[in-house]
Amino acid sequence: MDLKIINEIAKIVGEKNCLTSLEERRCYAYDARTDGAIPDLVVFPSSAKEVSEILILANKYIFPVIPRGQGSGLTGGSIPLNGGVVLSFTRMNRILEIDPENLIAIVEPGVITFELQQEVAKYGLFYPPDPASYKYSSIGGNVGECAGGPNSLKYGVTRDYVLGLEVVKPTGEILNVGVKTMKGVVGYDLTRLFVGSEGTLGVITKIILKLIPLPEAKATILALFNEVEEAAEAVSAIIAAKIVPSTIEFMDKASIKCSEQANPMGLPEGIGGLLLIEVDGDKESIRIQAEKIKRIVLEKKAIKCELTEDPKEADRLWQARRTLSQATYNLNPVKIAEDVVVPRSNIPRLIRALEEMEKKFNIPILSFGHAGDGNFHVSIMIKDNPEDRAKAEEAVKAIFEETLKLGGTLSGEHGIGTAKAPYIGMELSPEVIATMKGIKKLFDPKNILNPGKIFPD
Ligand SMILES: Cc1cc2nc3c(=O)[nH]c(=O)nc-3n(C[C@H](O)[C@H](O)[C@H](O)COP(=O)(O)OP(=O)(O)OC[C@H]3O[C@@H](n4cnc5c(N)ncnc54)[C@H](O)[C@@H]3O)c2cc1C
Repeated sequence: MDLKIINEIAKIVGEKNCLTSLEERRCYAYDARTDGAIPDLVVFPSSAKEVSEILILANKYIFPVIPRGQGSGLTGGSIPLNGGVVLSFTRMNRILEIDPENLIAIVEPGVITFELQQEVAKYGLFYPPDPASYKYSSIGGNVGECAGGPNSLKYGVTRDYVLGLEVVKPTGEILNVGVKTMKGVVGYDLTRLFVGSEGTLGVITKIILKLIPLPEAKATILALFNEVEEAAEAVSAIIAAKIVPSTIEFMDKASIKCSEQANPMGLPEGIGGLLLIEVDGDKESIRIQAEKIKRIVLEKKAIKCELTEDPKEADRLWQARRTLSQATYNLNPVKIAEDVVVPRSNIPRLIRALEEMEKKFNIPILSFGHAGDGNFHVSIMIKDNPEDRAKAEEAVKAIFEETLKLGGTLSGEHGIGTAKAPYIGMELSPEVIATMKGIKKLFDPKNILNPGKIFPD
């Protein structure tokens, strides 16, 4: 990138808010899944105005601009593909307002999800979206990907809590979209369009979030099954009994074994499925619901069921699930993580198909995740060699084919980025893709903002 452009950008944000050395810039070529190109410059803006001025320059001189939260994405959304300027929002990390009367919070994009949750809890309020990365991911990145988590079953995902946004268009205009009220239907719902747009349609500089009252108490249930079908049937039976737990997490046989080897909890050998269920609400009602769930899982042949309302004990029950992500690396050093979703009734068919694929491709394939909403984290663990990478590529395609055959979708939370871009034509028709590309062109005629993401070129 021309030194003249770098100097112009430095004038906008201040020299001390720019990274120019190769060593520093290299750190911004990665997210949690993949690596890309090293950016020419990394900047830390402090306002929508600064972002706008940078985007106006980008349209003048034609260089890519890539918004970045904490870089914990799993699909390559925040990495440059061909140099350009990375906008990192770690300086724009203020909670601007918490309004307990109207149940809203207004935040800058760099606020860490967990920190917002802690802050609103002081007012007896709750911001439910809880990606497993919530202790380090940012609200801006959560909005960029429309992140979800274990709580999604009862409380929904990020999009259900975004009321309004301040967004800088790729051409530099600053827009305020959405409302500060619980309802609002004036014009097109541009807020929803920006949520989950993976930093391709606009740069988010302020977010108006809906809050809800913090549940008084929580009960946690751990249930173990010999067969995966029994665990899946228990999930259906809980929902059919009109109980809506805040969480139903699942682990398959391979995941249980992997977690148990790394961090033994003393789970019996050969378990085919594990469910971790939580209910929240007022003390009286959660007790009734938790007992009802316990009865249901035992009816569905759970061989063991533990129930607790004690947070410390709950922590122990979560151990296998919480330590799993890290434990998978004991199997092999490279993880290809997919997050497919199928209708709940098709969960057992997906799990069986994955077991078959593990045998066919002869590589470890683990599945775990949010069974309550049919969202599975399928982890393909491979060695870093061309043979394993080729097998994994075939396995990914087979997983997507099976998911779509079962009426599912390719991604429930992680987005498309670069990792899944080659596959979106499997799910979306050419007409839908053309319409989406038309929207991108309308917002970003010179393809400045986060180019090369979502759509294969
Ligand atoms: C161990 C682990 C567990 C995870 N578990 C979950 C999970 O349970 N659920 C889940 O949904 N995800 C999960 N993730 C993925 C990831 O944490 C989420 O996608 C998260 O929302 C990314 O936040 P971030 O701040 O790191 O954003 P980044 O990764 O930096 O960016 C994500 C996307 O948002 C865009 N973006 C960032 N900031 C802005 C902005 N201000 N304006 C416009 N666009 C912007 C970026 O361009 C990019 O496309 C997990 C990741 C890891 C490593």
